[in-house]
Amino acid sequence: MPPLLPQTFIDSLTYLPGFDKEAFINVHEASNQITSIRLNPLKPTAAINDLPVEKSVPWCGTGRYLSTRPSFTLDPVFHGGAYYVQEASSMFLDHMVKEIYKTESGPERVLDLCAAPGGKSTLLAAALPDSFIVSNEVIKTRVGILAENISKWGSDHVIVTNNDPKDFKKIPGYFDLMVVDAPCSGSGLFRKDPQAINEWSEASVEMCSHRQQRILSDTIGSLKQNGFLIYSTCSYSVQEDEDICDWITDQFNLQPIKIQMDTSWGIVETISKKHGAAGYRFYPDKVQGEGFFIACFKQTNAVDNFYGYHNKTAIAPKQIQSIVEPFLKNGADYLLSDQKEIVIASLKKWEEEIATVSKILNVRKSGVAVGTVKGKDLIPHHELALSHLLSADIPFVTMQKEEALKYLRRQDLVFENEKKGWTLARYGDINLGWMKVLPNRVNNYYPTNWRILKA
Ligand code: SAM
Repeated sequence: MPPLLPQTFIDSLTYLPGFDKEAFINVHEASNQITSIRLNPLKPTAAINDLPVEKSVPWCGTGRYLSTRPSFTLDPVFHGGAYYVQEASSMFLDHMVKEIYKTESGPERVLDLCAAPGGKSTLLAAALPDSFIVSNEVIKTRVGILAENISKWGSDHVIVTNNDPKDFKKIPGYFDLMVVDAPCSGSGLFRKDPQAINEWSEASVEMCSHRQQRILSDTIGSLKQNGFLIYSTCSYSVQEDEDICDWITDQFNLQPIKIQMDTSWGIVETISKKHGAAGYRFYPDKVQGEGFFIACFKQTNAVDNFYGYHNKTAIAPKQIQSIVEPFLKNGADYLLSDQKEIVIASLKKWEEEIATVSKILNVRKSGVAVGTVKGKDLIPHHELALSHLLSADIPFVTMQKEEALKYLRRQDLVFENEKKGWTLARYGDINLGWMKVLPNRVNNYYPTNWRILKA
């Protein structure tokens, strides 16, 4: 039995629209676990059918509920980035983005400010394939997992940064869309993580609300005129949700945006007390998902838009390019640069944006790492194997599940009569990484720090 929900917590929600005390308490006591994944449109695969897929998430075309929670660690397709395990309510971001850009062209520059471990960033990468996406995380120790998840996803238009929100004051009027999935008191995850119930307090709600205001104060200036701000939390507390919406309207005069949706989804639209800002609440007794709140605003005030810097990328020498190009698909769309001995491919289209962000922010990953040139050869990077930039002409070996897991554990592999040289380890139609097939053995190049340790 999970710990009892604190009385002060229940009391604080009692008069909220859509709050049904009895059903809310019952759903927490029953503590049914819901598992959902979001499919990667860059990596469609029939191997998804091996998962216990039950049905689609109504507000996200690529979201799927699973009837039971499989061991994702032991699913090779998960390691190849064919899907991301994500809580279903938070996938509403997909619907919101599609709604706000239904009648106007998509955003050029997007910021996901509080991005680790990467759920919203991978969603944005899929929903906005033609945008330049800055995926930022302030906490250094969380940037590694964020970069890893972005690499696995395989997109080439996401740049990962490690900056404090106040650093964004240096980049005013720049972003067309900003997502602030703020750190919060976390009550929305009580069913998933009952231990969090014991950690909840009114003081923590108060502290989070102040921190949310600080984060927004530091970053709203980065929004362009006519840009959109999407604010979300996984807290039910009004102080972190509707009150923040009122505060955003008071402080920055942003215009709240209402989102059309299907009423059968069970999402509750709320209206903030002071300015009538629309917000969207997810209660686990009404939707198949955890607690979540999300709201959208438009920057309709005059802003001096910042156009960025025009620095040119230092291009890798021709000889390096000719070694690398056979590994790439649509190589002409990319600039190849040599950064600390690793050749990086960046989309030409975003050259100025990459230059600007690199000058102002602390970039931890940009473009796609292609590999290291040694003499006349390329040692291909793991990120390339997972990227959609990889040429379709690279030799591969299709593995059965046990063999694929052996590869992912970085164990020794044995093949006969295979073509020699760099070869992709593949499961179904999903690339898992590199092997080098030599005359007398196969070298496993799966990254040591990513390898499966579980038996
Ligand atoms: N958007 C992520 C996703 O969908 O996978 C989850 C983000 S989580 C709700 C909030 C994030 O804010 C965490 O990664 C946390 O490290 C970060 N964070 C914590 N304190 C922060 C601060 N003062 N400023 C900005 N971000 C902060």
